[in-house]
Amino acid sequence: MFKYLLPSILALASMFAHAQSKAGVEFAIVKTGKTTTLKGMMVSGGGFTTKVDGNFSAILVKHGQTHFLFDSGLGTQVAQQYQQDMPWWARAFFKYEDPVVPARTQLDQAGIPPIDRIFLSHAHWDHASGLGDFPEAVVWAAPEELHVVAHAAPGLGGSWPSQVSLKSIRWQALDFKPQPYKGFDRSIDVFSDGSVVLVPMFGHTPGSIGMFVTVASGKRFFFCGDAVWRADALKDGSPKFWPASLIVDKDREQTQHTIEQMRELVRQDPGLVVVPAHDDTVQAGLGYFPLWVK
Ligand SMILES: [Zn+2]
Repeated sequence: MFKYLLPSILALASMFAHAQSKAGVEFAIVKTGKTTTLKGMMVSGGGFTTKVDGNFSAILVKHGQTHFLFDSGLGTQVAQQYQQDMPWWARAFFKYEDPVVPARTQLDQAGIPPIDRIFLSHAHWDHASGLGDFPEAVVWAAPEELHVVAHAAPGLGGSWPSQVSLKSIRWQALDFKPQPYKGFDRSIDVFSDGSVVLVPMFGHTPGSIGMFVTVASGKRFFFCGDAVWRADALKDGSPKFWPASLIVDKDREQTQHTIEQMRELVRQDPGLVVVPAHDDTVQAGLGYFPLWVK
């Protein structure tokens, strides 16, 4: 009798553990700063009279007792980093407004326990600025993006030495498995329970990644980094304003392929909420840290 009972007890226990870990998943959008720009700069055909805000945010995810970040937003040293590595000709288009409230400051004030890891959507300045503020965390990026990091140089389109070349940063390479997930041919199921899944989204940079999160309520979110700057661009598949794309998208054809992939994803899964890294409309709708989405 026990022989038959044991496997079912084990199965029940594993189901319980699964449900428990899922029950613990929530996230918060840590808005570290913003910039104001003309909508036409962000979306092709967006118009040059409407102004929109672009956020610089880090995503804080809580899984059980673990806290981790997806991107780091603008960090405590952003002014000095910008001064050192942003080329003069780009300063009119790529800027941030004061005040900056770094993720480190916000998390410390709220008494959030140490972050054990940061997943980097890509190594551009507005995502990597805060990495040096979390020396306790291991920073995970796609191998292709670690190559960008290894060749850090001032300018746009790559990564900045002032941000990524710090000795205190412990880099680790993500190892994508040949496990298809929602139309992506490879993925990493971070906690082996399907609650947090990373996918490669190469194009904007050689090693850009995206993150799917299923929170406790069952609601699903997709953090797509900079594959698109605004979620409404997915409705008509419009790319970024072409001069902007020319500057920031490493591989425009691959980026457009990724956009098409995301449009298909949203068509098949209308409940999925796509959260671009800079989209203040979507982010404001979800609310900001210390508010949690669960
Ligand atoms: Zn960005």
